[in-house]
Amino acid sequence: MDQTRLEEKLAELPLYTYFFIDPRELTFSTRVRTVCRQECPMYGKTWACPPGVGSVEECREKCLNYRRCLVIGTAAEEVDITDLEATLATREPHEKITNRVRDLLREEGEAPYVLSTESCAICSRCAYLDGLPCRMPGKMHPCVESHGIVLTDTLEKAGLPFQYGGDVVTWYSLLFY
Ligand code: SF4
Repeated sequence: MDQTRLEEKLAELPLYTYFFIDPRELTFSTRVRTVCRQECPMYGKTWACPPGVGSVEECREKCLNYRRCLVIGTAAEEVDITDLEATLATREPHEKITNRVRDLLREEGEAPYVLSTESCAICSRCAYLDGLPCRMPGKMHPCVESHGIVLTDTLEKAGLPFQYGGDVVTWYSLLFY
């Protein structure tokens, strides 16, 4: 892969940050999975969420099969974060950028494994609910938290805040390659 060429293309995208890490630097914890189970309405509803994604240990092994991880972040400003609908509307542009970065890695001959935000919303009804395999495994991205990854640790090490507070919404994706 030509890292310089990739970074030139990343610089053209509306990312507020990107950085590369060794997947072994990530923190995995079953505590995150507990939060999914107890607090997320999408738990058990899609292949992008637990338990469909496998155990935290299986997810960890999958991530550690890759040499590098590209972390990307986008930020939406002037959002009324008390308005859930307005906040979630900022997710779609992030997903589009994630897909663009995935394609850049593919153009460089990589086969990235992508984790992104929230649950998959490609199909109106996820095949998981009918006990069928995912219809678009090449397009769907499990969410970062579904793999038990403590993203705040990674961002802290990079000197980045997880929440900017006020009226800024930030989203992150991890692309393993
Ligand atoms: S692509 Fe469809 S079947 Fe696959 S995880 Fe997403 S919603 Fe479910």
